[in-house]
Amino acid sequence: MEPVVIKHKRTTLERAEKFISEHHFTDINLRSRLYPKKAELASISHFEADGRIPVEEALAGKYTETKIGQSFGPTWSTHWFCLDIVVPDEWVGQEVCLLWNSNSEALVWKDNSPIQGLSGEHKRHSFPLANGPIWKNQCRQKIHIEMACNGLFGAGDNGMIERPDPNRYFTLAQAEIAIFDRRVYDLILDVEMLHDMAKHLPESTERGYQALYTVNRLINTCKVDDPSTYQKAHAIAEEFFKQGNGASQHTLHAMGHAHIDTAWLWPYAETIRKCARSWSCTLQLMEQYPDFTFTCSQAQQFEWVKQHYPVMYDKIQSFVQRGRFIPVGGTWIEMDGNLPSGESFIRQFLYGQLFFQKEFGKTCSEFWLPDTFGYSAQLPQIMNICNIKRFLTQKLSWSLVNKFPHHTFWWQGLDGSKVLTHFPPGDSYEMKGHVKEVLFTLSNYQDKGRSGHSMYLFGYGDGGNGPSEDMIQRLHRIEDTDGLPRVKMSTPDEYFSTVEKNDGDKLCKWTGELYLELHNGTYTTQAQVKELNRRCEILLHDVELLSSLALAAAPSEGFNYPAEELLRLWKLVLLNQFHDVLPGSSIELVYKDSMSHYKDILKSGRALWNTAFNNLTASQSDICPLVVNTLSWERSDVVIVPANEEETQENSQSPSKRLKLDSDLLQVDVYSNSLAIVLVPSCGYTSLLPQECQFPVTIAKQGDLYELENQYLTAVINSSGHLLQLSMPGTNRNAMSDGDHGNQFVLYDDVPLYWDAWDVMDYHLETRKPLKEVIESVKVNDLGPIRVSLEFSLKISVSYLKQTITLDAIAPYLKC
Ligand SMILES: [Zn+2]
Repeated sequence: MEPVVIKHKRTTLERAEKFISEHHFTDINLRSRLYPKKAELASISHFEADGRIPVEEALAGKYTETKIGQSFGPTWSTHWFCLDIVVPDEWVGQEVCLLWNSNSEALVWKDNSPIQGLSGEHKRHSFPLANGPIWKNQCRQKIHIEMACNGLFGAGDNGMIERPDPNRYFTLAQAEIAIFDRRVYDLILDVEMLHDMAKHLPESTERGYQALYTVNRLINTCKVDDPSTYQKAHAIAEEFFKQGNGASQHTLHAMGHAHIDTAWLWPYAETIRKCARSWSCTLQLMEQYPDFTFTCSQAQQFEWVKQHYPVMYDKIQSFVQRGRFIPVGGTWIEMDGNLPSGESFIRQFLYGQLFFQKEFGKTCSEFWLPDTFGYSAQLPQIMNICNIKRFLTQKLSWSLVNKFPHHTFWWQGLDGSKVLTHFPPGDSYEMKGHVKEVLFTLSNYQDKGRSGHSMYLFGYGDGGNGPSEDMIQRLHRIEDTDGLPRVKMSTPDEYFSTVEKNDGDKLCKWTGELYLELHNGTYTTQAQVKELNRRCEILLHDVELLSSLALAAAPSEGFNYPAEELLRLWKLVLLNQFHDVLPGSSIELVYKDSMSHYKDILKSGRALWNTAFNNLTASQSDICPLVVNTLSWERSDVVIVPANEEETQENSQSPSKRLKLDSDLLQVDVYSNSLAIVLVPSCGYTSLLPQECQFPVTIAKQGDLYELENQYLTAVINSSGHLLQLSMPGTNRNAMSDGDHGNQFVLYDDVPLYWDAWDVMDYHLETRKPLKEVIESVKVNDLGPIRVSLEFSLKISVSYLKQTITLDAIAPYLKC
């Protein structure tokens, strides 16, 4: 009899879906045969650890029997399990795995080494007990599992992006061994990919229907209960996938990736373990799949793994040498792209590249920053200076209003420096190898016809985890199959070299900042972190300058340049510039760590500052007291003079002779409010030789108005602190428009659409509420001739603000 083939897309699609479903017909469908036999573990015992302890300590713990169904917690606690595994003799020669689901993140340890991460999410529940089929001598095994009481996204409700619930408990839902039937696994992926092609390829081509009838034929051929039919069914799929593309087809350069936020919904200490869990999975896949490549950024994370997991680190080094585990980015961490100073950006590259050079014998050739909330226009120049000519990111795809017009382009900085820039057109660093994503990658690509290549980063991310075997298998099936872009396992260097060679002159250019139209609230959230970051950047800069001056001035006095301590402190500053820490988008726990880091930097940095300054002062007794200018241009500025300057003129060692330019943020002892104007060379010092104040600054009161005036400016301020007039003396031009005024404090609502710590929205501008209630009206603090200043305070809800406005005799600006 002729076989009947039903011509009905809807039922055929659903037939394929149910054939491999995890939710329907799971007793009789193909997926039900994936683990044909299961058995209990010989025993499971448990030990509650005192925090994140080293493995040696954990192995020596006191373990007691436990069982499936028990819950473990609370949030952030650590539980170790010892599993006795006895594989039945009749399973020898088959692939056997441990199935473990503690609904949390976990790490498998064997012989004191981390072997593979597991996670409640994304169904990473399976750990193979042997490479390939199990042998008789492998049938008895002891395995340890380190369970972390958090999920991939911390411990918010239901795995959501939320603050952690401090009292979450995680239930051990599964702990057993099973035979894994790889033939079934292959067929499941065949059916999935054929189904997805049938579903997502456009009606205008025949290819989707070819996939539809192929999957239908496969299911008709595959008798679930008869494994002898599996090979024939698989061959039907293979035949289909082998039908290749024409020569002009777009090529996706696929590479594994695991975006691990260095801190976000979890603290730094958990990130160290996330690296181990994620990268152990990656290493395991590398051994299994010889073409699989993996890109990995952030020197800090490599350094953590080197310290905490040396055996694993050795393996990483070996795969780096083989060009498969690929360090990228060249920076210490993936920092925020706007808030760090230029000096910090340079340090990110300097310390990152030094690490990669020392550990792997080569530096990175591309900057890698997929997830920051905007990109300073300085970056191309800084990259070029650091010998980096290529750049990968994708975050602008999140812009709320305008779609960025390019995916592959030249990005040009302020000084004309250019970098070849690529946004993977899938608009994500978390692809999974699905047909839908691959098609979107091509349809979304903004540079079609200019460059026939793009990057495709696959692997679970943000909380780490990385590529899975499913993803690699999916991509292998569509390496070159008609109807889909070509896919090849590649490397960033291969991708960028190809574009440079073939397409460089066809690409568009974008000049200036890459501005993200979202997450604009990250410039104010957690303001204290921003302030401390800047204070620390300035402090460490000044310590280096003072130490250099001290060294140059008195090399024979035995001053030791504090190189090692400065490196330690800089690395702490750089760490806290991570793209979820400095922007303020992390959980509170992270900021406890940050505050303790900043306290350390400020305390240690000030000690270094004092030592350097005292050494410099001692070497310059003839010109003491010193005034130091730590900035790189000559400055005429106002300094505060110590009260006891006259009396201590003879004693050049006295620390009370420290002076500072008052615009430095560094806190030093101040003994008096007497002021002087000095002229100091760039990055240099001079003795305190006050300059004559030729043009005094004045303040006058008329009614309730205060008029401040120096040689450059006239400012009129009312008793509420409002600026009514700002003009140049001798002109009638007021920078304030008629009837309006400056220096107003205004409140706006802050209720965004979703990301409450990240976003301020356009509609907030419609909710303007000026602060009107004056607590203390203006009072004058300084009367001239070098400085005039006044202050006032305003009520804000239950709090208040106090503002000081200063005009110096030599400054062409008001300081508020
Ligand atoms: Zn991120």
